[in-house]
Amino acid sequence: MAIATINPYDGNHVKSFSASTAREINAVLAGAAQAVPDWSGMEFAGRAALMRRAAAVLRSGSGHWARLMTLEMGKTAREARAEIEKCAAACEFYAAHARDFLADTRIESDAGLSYVSFFPLGTILGVMPWNFPFWQVFRFAAPALMAGNTVLLKHASNVPQCALAIETIFRESGFPDGVFGLLLISGSDVGKVIADPRVHAVSVTGSEEAGRSIATAAGSALKKTVLELGGSDAFIVLEDADLEAAAATGVASRYINGGQSCIAAKRFILVDPVARDFIELFRRKAGALRQGDPAAEDTDVGPMARADLRDHLHRQVRESIERGAVALMGCAPAAGPGFFYDISLLDRVTAGMPAYDEEIFGPVAVMIHARDEEDALRIANDSRYGLGGSIWTRDIPRGERLARRLQSGSAFVNGLVKSDARLPFGGIKASGYGRELSVLGIREFVNAKTVWIS
Ligand code: NAP
Repeated sequence: MAIATINPYDGNHVKSFSASTAREINAVLAGAAQAVPDWSGMEFAGRAALMRRAAAVLRSGSGHWARLMTLEMGKTAREARAEIEKCAAACEFYAAHARDFLADTRIESDAGLSYVSFFPLGTILGVMPWNFPFWQVFRFAAPALMAGNTVLLKHASNVPQCALAIETIFRESGFPDGVFGLLLISGSDVGKVIADPRVHAVSVTGSEEAGRSIATAAGSALKKTVLELGGSDAFIVLEDADLEAAAATGVASRYINGGQSCIAAKRFILVDPVARDFIELFRRKAGALRQGDPAAEDTDVGPMARADLRDHLHRQVRESIERGAVALMGCAPAAGPGFFYDISLLDRVTAGMPAYDEEIFGPVAVMIHARDEEDALRIANDSRYGLGGSIWTRDIPRGERLARRLQSGSAFVNGLVKSDARLPFGGIKASGYGRELSVLGIREFVNAKTVWIS
């Protein structure tokens, strides 16, 4: 894919970027390798001070960084600023907790003294997506850096200005040369970087296809991967749910970021007694959303990020309708310039339709009807994905029981599925493996070394 900024609001080409040459890539890899000894040998306090400065640089330039996201992938101004704040908070979280998370852990054994000690792996490559162009990078980079690794970023080809801005943020914050390296390369050049002996592990956030291809390359080079891939989160509404709260959260979850979030509620699974009322409430709330210029302060839903993504979404919707799904709202690309897709609602979705079987990455809410609780759970788990999911019921023990049976990396009862630096984040099945955030996230890219002393 060409490395370029194309404004999704009007479809205009803004700027193209040349891909890094082989010589430039080599220089970035060499810089990262050279930086490892000093960076990994630095006290936690030194790394934490730089990470706190990165948080300050993020906050002080919030409006500017946010505008780049809006320009390159169509996120609304409000959501973009919130994303910058979330990045700053994650930097501060790991600045505050990395030392404790990676403290030596004593374990009783037959030794006089035995313990586990955590050491950085070296240089970690992050292959990142466009949908949260700052958050995904900081979620990966903050713990990896605090653990003493150097990092390389290969960002999505449609957000080069965000990638360059992130490089600027680390530089302005005072991170030593080579600790953060940027590669402007396309997906097809990632394999060569993975094979390079100066790269020690890879973190991927993106589609299932990208995850599969990168994990294959990393596997053949025997390098560890963490994969954060697609999702098709279930949103189960039981007959005793607070429908008003469920519909409000469902609408927020489905249409945030123009519907392009891995943990959006993608399959609304409604038990028969409340299905009709829930859909009516949902339709009213979704219908009140304002779609338009993402830079405008009162816009709720912007365009999709790219024309090809919109075309793919429309194909999935059309095929689902051909197989019996019912369009209750929207379900078509919006007229005019830009990559807008109508705020949409698709009802009566069943197995065998793309809207049921595949990830729906855009502003289309999918309604699936279930007989009862067991049927709802069966449908929820009838997915190749297993990222998040939520259950709506006033009976908390019942919600908790179902949450524990959901095949997913996270399960929320009466709440919006979201990431939080304090809690582990990740998936199972085709949603990937490994965890980000929390103590588990920072322990992914370290050597957990056993030390045994007689
Ligand atoms: P994508 O097309 O897979 O791209 C993600 C990154 O992978 C980009 O940097 C892309 O580079 C690169 N890439 C793509 N194919 C590759 C290949 N064969 N080899 C090496 N690199 C490759 O995904 P996206 O469209 O940006 O993001 C949307 C997807 O990400 C959705 O499925 C979403 O659910 C998932 N996602 C998951 C999480 C999570 O935490 N689980 C979070 C956010 C998004 P180019 O741009 O140069 O192609």
